[in-house]
Amino acid sequence: MSASVAVTELMDYDEVVQRFDPVLGLEVHVELSTNTKMFCGCENAFGGEPNTKVCPVCLGLPGSLPVVNGKAVESAIRIGLALNCDIAEWCRFARKNYFYPDMPKNFQTSQYDEPIAVNGWLDVVLDDGEVVRVEIERAHMEEDTGKSLHVGGSTGRIHGAEHSLLDYNRAGVPLIEIVTKPIVGTGARAPEVARAYVTALRDLLRALGVSDVRMDQGSLRCDANVSLMAKGAAEFGTRTETKNVNSLRSVERAVRYEMTRQAAVLANGGRVVQETRHFDESTGSTSSGRTKETAEDYRYFPEPDLVPVAPSREWVEELRATLPELPWERLKRIQTEWQLTDPELRDLVNAGAVELVAETVAAGAGPAEARSWWVSYLTQQANTRGVDLADLPITPVQLARVIALVAEGSLTNKLAREVVDGVLAGEGEPDQVVEARGLKVVSDDSALLAAVDEALAAQPDIAEKIRSGKVAAAGAIVGAVMKATKGQADAKRVRELVLSRCTG
Ligand code: ADP
Ligand code: MG
Ligand code: ZN
Repeated sequence: MSASVAVTELMDYDEVVQRFDPVLGLEVHVELSTNTKMFCGCENAFGGEPNTKVCPVCLGLPGSLPVVNGKAVESAIRIGLALNCDIAEWCRFARKNYFYPDMPKNFQTSQYDEPIAVNGWLDVVLDDGEVVRVEIERAHMEEDTGKSLHVGGSTGRIHGAEHSLLDYNRAGVPLIEIVTKPIVGTGARAPEVARAYVTALRDLLRALGVSDVRMDQGSLRCDANVSLMAKGAAEFGTRTETKNVNSLRSVERAVRYEMTRQAAVLANGGRVVQETRHFDESTGSTSSGRTKETAEDYRYFPEPDLVPVAPSREWVEELRATLPELPWERLKRIQTEWQLTDPELRDLVNAGAVELVAETVAAGAGPAEARSWWVSYLTQQANTRGVDLADLPITPVQLARVIALVAEGSLTNKLAREVVDGVLAGEGEPDQVVEARGLKVVSDDSALLAAVDEALAAQPDIAEKIRSGKVAAAGAIVGAVMKATKGQADAKRVRELVLSRCTG
């Protein structure tokens, strides 16, 4: 008998969206970049020697008592305000009871039915400029777990491992969980909406300065809930929750995959199982995790060791006043300042170039020049090399120097590209590349005049035409001079010199 291999059936995406309406729910966990942990004085920092940032409180030793980190509450309120939420006048922590080796207390101190922020929204801009308003159900405070390291076995996962190691440095790190209301009506664009939402949220959190929002280090993590309902159905379908999808691109892929998988299950007369699923980056597919606990399983109850959090309205208003310019406000301002049309702004955003252009402008370049370099030539270079624009080996300051050299007439646009190529090739600062490659525009008149005279002498008939007033003929001489100087002459000046030679 041959072993049977379970093959997951997928439905073609176009058919999925013809037959079903997707519903999304996104849960984002963000680790706050406070100095200390949520309920103790241990250092809050990524990595480090295992189990060196721990104390009786975050190890859950008997008799230890937690104290709420005021800075974390402040960040939670600022996040809530930026997401247009109502801030609770009074709220509590709760114990969420479950056993897991990376959670030393055997319960997670979280918030349950009394979160600090509720009922907000975030406007999300899609690649083509369409705006989708995502409603926020709540943002609540909790603590992170430790980390397990599974040793032996090939996958790094617990299956097949010989033993596991535990590192509690992360246990008790402040977390904010931001949960959306069900997102409906996005149809075929659901995967894109999911990615755009997490992107917008990340940018917002970064602007607030509350977290370093590194998906690759786990300081921003997304769980994607997806369900399908047949077109015209009145009730939501059963959802799955794909856990810890750790890049923006993966968010989009995970949602899309689940849509095609669930559609095939439903079309074959099956039922979607309510469960958590695991996203595999390498295959772009999800696999079954555990069947989902319900709230009862966690036996939530109010945390008896912590006093309730009751932020005064004065404090909330003070915090509102500390909100920085938010990403979409900044984009509006930039659009006005740089005089961009809507499509120009969108291209800039889609190219991931806003920050780079802003820094280039801050280094003295004109917005139009800075934008043109980043969204065209440098974007091409990044694509060719397969890297992100921001990872190209040229800085905004270096680019601003190249732009300045063009503005002062020392470089033509063509030469400027060569300088940029040189910087990208690691040949040093722009001025060093100009020097080493000998790229300066020849604008000193005596050198140019010699070349002009030579060109006039070589083409006496054309010289004669110019002398008799046919100014248009000057182009041929200018061309000859540019050729002779390998494109390093200032063409405008050459033309002036040709005309003055023939008429003066
Ligand atoms: P859990 O404790 O199971 O993680 P949460 O309330 O924290 O539940 O998050 C559930 C998320 O899923 C929310 O964003 C919610 O809006 C969303 N959601 C609820 N029902 C559905 C559904 N049928 N399909 C898709 N998403 C859903
Ligand atoms: Mg949840
Ligand atoms: Zn501690």
